[in-house]
Amino acid sequence: MEVGQNKETVGIGAAAAPKVAQRIFEAQSFAVDGVSGATVTSNAVKTAACEALAKAGVDLKAWNKKPVQKAALAEKTLTTDVLILGGGGAGMISAINASEQGAKVLLLEKMEFLGGASSICAGGMLIEGSKLQKDLGVVDDTPEKFVADMLRNGKNLNNKKMLEVYARNVGPTVDWLVGKGIKLVTKDGVQSRAEYQVPRLLNLQGGCPGYAQTLRELLAKTPTEVLLGTRAKELIVENGAVTGVKAEGNGTLYTVKAKSVILATGGYGANRDMLGGSLKKTLYYGPVSSTGDGHKMA
Ligand SMILES: Cc1cc2nc3c(=O)[nH]c(=O)nc-3n(C[C@H](O)[C@H](O)[C@H](O)COP(=O)(O)OP(=O)(O)OC[C@H]3O[C@@H](n4cnc5c(N)ncnc54)[C@H](O)[C@@H]3O)c2cc1C
Repeated sequence: MEVGQNKETVGIGAAAAPKVAQRIFEAQSFAVDGVSGATVTSNAVKTAACEALAKAGVDLKAWNKKPVQKAALAEKTLTTDVLILGGGGAGMISAINASEQGAKVLLLEKMEFLGGASSICAGGMLIEGSKLQKDLGVVDDTPEKFVADMLRNGKNLNNKKMLEVYARNVGPTVDWLVGKGIKLVTKDGVQSRAEYQVPRLLNLQGGCPGYAQTLRELLAKTPTEVLLGTRAKELIVENGAVTGVKAEGNGTLYTVKAKSVILATGGYGANRDMLGGSLKKTLYYGPVSSTGDGHKMA
């Protein structure tokens, strides 16, 4: 069973569609699980398969049976140098970097595709302190200006320490990404915004879907082992240090031990219980995967 040409988002809907088709084929049933985070695509594939079979004169009643579930979960212990929890932008970049430095890397991603919020965001990148910003003629930006602008714009509700870390690191990070082949639209120069003292905004070419796809391709060139559909559930702590994680996915309970664990599970906007005050009622427009798992585990 094949999914034909489509205009699904690369790496998300486009990755989910053949998986759903495969599940339908293997189970000989439409009552299979869709791919979480790609529900509309999953339902479209089921509908298309259903219509195709109906046209072929197949009795559809037989195709509604529940697939047989495997009884017990298998158990597996894995060891690695660097264990990365979450395969959005932060997780993929960590994996690429650690892998290129010679570490054995294992990345666990709870969804069935890599990308997280990093594959659906708007694609505006702040380039404060980068060589790129200077090359494009903006030489007077500083971490101090960046922090001041962000605090003013955030009505001083921001976490200043985090902002300072961000401000000191964003420039070298942008240059690293550009060096890796991430493309930014530079033809109109660095953009200004009313809330910035100096121009410091560029847009990603191809937006975030393109950005995430480039990261997936870079990651695929490294020997990083990626387990999709595998949710980190509990950090293993020994003598006050995080030494691994318990995770579950694809019918297996994993115990993973690692020299370093990187928590890159994203935000918690999709988890109403974790949002405070008026945010509970705010329209959420991010990915379903941002449920604050990392915050809860930590
Ligand atoms: C609509 C939208 C527009 C945005 N626009 C911009 C913009 O223009 N500029 C900008 O700078 N920022 C923007 N952002 C914010 C930006 O997208 C995020 O800050 C950034 O992508 C976060 O990256 P991340 O890797 O930390 O998290 P994510 O990209 O969300 O990755 C986290 C990953 O962890 C996985 N995960 C979660 N829990 C587990 C678990 N228990 N086990 C295993 N895996 C797990 C998730 O499935 C996900 O793949 C936007 C965000 C949204 C939603």
